[in-house]
Formats: sequence, C-alpha cells, structure tokens
Amino acid sequence: MRTILITGASGSITAPLIPLLARAGKIRCRLFLRDSAKNRDLFSRWQRDGLNVEPFWGNLCDADSCLNAVAGCELVLHCGALIPPATLHYPDLAWQTNVGGTRNILTAIKAQSDWKKIRLIYTGTVAQYGYRNHLHPWGRVGDPLLPGPYEVYGSSKVRAERLVIESGLERWISLRLSPILYDSMILRNMGDGLIFQTPLNTCLEWTTTRCTADLISKIITAELAGELPPEFWRRVYNVGGGAPSRTTYYETLAAGLRLIGSSPKYFFRPHWFATRNFSGLWMIDSDILIKQFDFTAGECFTDFFNALRKKLWYYKVGYPLKRLIRSRILRPLAFGYDAPAHWAENGPTERAEAFYGPGKAYAELPRFWHQFPLLCENRDPATGVFLDYNQFKSDDNLRARGYYLGHGYDDTRPDAEIELSDLISAAKFRGGVCLAETMTKGDMYTELPWHCHQGHEFSASPYLILRAGHWCPVCCQPEPWNFDELARHVPFFAQVWYDSHHPDERNFYPQGSARDITAARTGARQKKITGWVGRLAAYFKDPSNRKNKNRKKE
Ligand SMILES: [Zn+2]
Repeated sequence: MRTILITGASGSITAPLIPLLARAGKIRCRLFLRDSAKNRDLFSRWQRDGLNVEPFWGNLCDADSCLNAVAGCELVLHCGALIPPATLHYPDLAWQTNVGGTRNILTAIKAQSDWKKIRLIYTGTVAQYGYRNHLHPWGRVGDPLLPGPYEVYGSSKVRAERLVIESGLERWISLRLSPILYDSMILRNMGDGLIFQTPLNTCLEWTTTRCTADLISKIITAELAGELPPEFWRRVYNVGGGAPSRTTYYETLAAGLRLIGSSPKYFFRPHWFATRNFSGLWMIDSDILIKQFDFTAGECFTDFFNALRKKLWYYKVGYPLKRLIRSRILRPLAFGYDAPAHWAENGPTERAEAFYGPGKAYAELPRFWHQFPLLCENRDPATGVFLDYNQFKSDDNLRARGYYLGHGYDDTRPDAEIELSDLISAAKFRGGVCLAETMTKGDMYTELPWHCHQGHEFSASPYLILRAGHWCPVCCQPEPWNFDELARHVPFFAQVWYDSHHPDERNFYPQGSARDITAARTGARQKKITGWVGRLAAYFKDPSNRKNKNRKKE
C-alpha cells in the first residue's frame, strides 16, 4: 500500500481529487484536516463511500502536527493554504498558514530518514505574478513576481514557493494554479467586496476544480507507477485551461449573471471596479501540462457555465428579484468597507491609490457603460479605439508581437547550456550582481551568492532566479510592498510595473499595512450587529478566535 499525504483536504480542488485517488485501492490517502465538526462530517462521508482514506487531525501552523502527518508517506500534496477572500480579512493568519505551514511541512519531510525520496507537489498561484493589464496580458514561468500592495495571498505564496524550490528535495514541483471555477463560486463570492477588486479588463485563464483534480491525480498516479522521468521534477509549471478558457473578468461576470438572465451592465457601474492591483494573465506555457496530461478534455469555460445553467436551473428565480439584488445586495457591497469604491470615497487614500491610481484617477473614471472601453467589445482599454479582440487573444507569434517579457538572458536555451555569463546578465537585468566566480555549466540547483541593488547578499539557485522569477528575499518579496522604488532600480520589474503605474509614484506600504482591513471589518460589523447575541456570533465566526489546542502551544 502506498501512502500519500494531502494537506488542505477540505478544499475545493481536493473534493473531486480524493475519490479519484483513493478509489483505486492501491493508494491510501492520509488527509490532513483541521479538527472541526464540518471536517469530521466530510471525512465520514468519504469513509462511507468506501474510499481508502485515513484522517490526520492537525494544524499546519504546528510543527509537531506536520511531523507526525508526514511520517510514512512517500508523496505529499501540499495544497493547504488560506485563500481569498479569507486572506484579505485575516492577513496574519494567511502568513502563518501559507508560509509557516509550508516551512513546517518541509521541515517534517527533511526529518524523515529517506527524505530525499519523498515527492512534494506544492500548489502555487497565478496571483504570484501580480497585476497585468492589456499591454502584457500574457505571462510564463520565469516572469517577475510582483504581487501588489495588500495582496497577502500572492505575496505569501511567493515566499512559500521559494522555500519549496530551495528545499534540496530531489522531487518537488510547484503548480501555479490559475483561478478555478467551481459550482458554488457565485454564491460564495457575492458576499464579499473582493468581486470589485478585479479590474474589468483583466485577462483570466480559468480551469475548473474537476480539471485541476484530474491533472493532479494523473501526476500522482504516473509518479507512483514510475512513469515520470526525473526531468519532470524540480520545476515550476503554470496550470491553466488553455485557449478555450481565456476570457476577461467582464466576460466571467457576464457568464455568471446570464444564469439569472441578466448582465453586468444591469447590476454594476464601471467605476465600482478597481482599475489595477489585482492579478490574472493568460498563460503562454499552460500547454506544457495540457499536452502531457490532457486534463482539460471535456471542460472549458463555456462547458462549465453550460453545465452550471442546467444544474442551477432554479437560479432563474433571481430574475424577478434582480432589482432587489442590485439595490439591496450589490450596491451596498460595492461601497462596503472592503471594496475599492468605498476606499476611493471614504479612505484610506493609500488603498484607493493602490487600486485606482493617484490623484483624480477614480473621479475621472466613466460612470456609465457606454463610456467604458471593454476589451471583449473590441475596444482598447487605454484609448477606447477599435481593437480586434479575437486577434488580440490569438496565441500566434506572441514573441514576435512583443508579449514575451525579458528575463535578462537568452531564455530559449535549455538548462544544460546555462552558464555563468547567463547568470551575470540576468543579475544585471535585476539591478544586482552574481557574486559567483565559477559555475558548473547546466547546474541549475546548486545555490550561488548574489547581491541586489541595495546590497543585500543572499544565496539562491540559478533555477530560482533565472527560471522561476524570484529575486532578493529581503527587499523584493513583500511585504512591505515597495515596487515603485524597486522598479527604478530593477529593469526586470520596470518592464511590467510601469504598464499600470507612473514612474513618479512613490508609494510605500509598510509591514502589516494589510491589517487595516481587519479593523475596518470590525467597525463595519459592530455598526450592523446590535445586542450581545450578534456580538457573540461574530466572535465565534472569526477563525482567529477559534479554540485551537495546537496554536496555544506556540
Ligand atoms: Zn535586496
């Protein structure tokens, strides 16, 4: 019997994944779950379904818990993380879970006698790349990692991924996942200001929970059957659904609202949405895994929404209520404490400027749809003039069309040909220096010394810097967020940062700046909730107050 550990086992990807893996009988899935009534219910359901699963009740933030969970496993699928919108409301917990949890898992793996043989599949995110607008909507692994101000999720996943890449394990991969469509996503997101933080023209390449589960299960099954070559490992991959799943955020909203027979233009105003500082891109290289594992077969963006329409036929009852939904749910949400339009009208100014740009950027935004240029309606977002969206979206000749970002060296060459001169030139493009005097040609994983433009010395493997897009761990991996200043010294960042920022901007977001939202949330709740019953309910709903034996130990 082969035992694998799955962290974050109660998440949306793992729900369809666990039956795929644990039904076959040859693989025993140890499921790392937080001890709660909901998770115990979930586990009993898997057991009743006859799946080959065993529970591990623990907390990723607790090192001992991780150590016991990893014992005896030959593969760890680490997808346990705090994700949006929770990361926006509980930034400290996000850092502890996403970075601390990953560190604990790696330490636990290394404590095993045969640690070099243990495989690790880590799930990263497209949010690590930060915001892209129509000037560079295409991205690939190796591009700069610029998760913007307040974006704790992407920022924490950058740091955690660095730990994985530099772990010394012989078989790890990081899967940077695109946003994922799942059945309850509409209801789940309709209660959070997060829906207004994505700019309408953001280019998104979707996958679905079923496709992602299919991919991961195929990777695990192939590896345990000894079918994956060593070259598959020690690499970062972008995971997206390919051409049929490439859309803009506006098109996504439109597909969702079509379920109740309406459109974004009825429900929203364009200025309610941020105009920068989120994340999302179309992936140049998502075809690598699609070709190898054929995991998108039968489900793209359109298939997903068609199936959802059949499944959620009762959503049509929303149609007569749409006026009410607009005035009583969506408008208050757009001006709630966690939405960009609220920050623009009531402060804090720092947040407003991060999401809309400085000065009068928000005031000058069109208030009506006919004035707002949408990419998917063939209009250039910057000028409003005609732009052929289908041609813009085509993935032909992307390099010739100027959509490839520079990596500071000839990135078309294979690993075996990478030598010291490539490292020197890549470091220069990042405003720093490679301090190594020699390098074994083609050795991508031995750590070498570097320093950044600020003089921070650090060691990092050529793979981490050249192939995965990481740089100085002190000044270039938020938080604090200081990309306006960094872009002045790091051409690697400047090539994309100035697509949506002015060179005169000088914003600095210190450590802990994302915590302001927690205070704003408490204020907003207290306004709403009166009486001790309400306050008590709010207290227990807050995960940071949950009784947890493991956290008490720390
Ligand atoms: Zn530095």
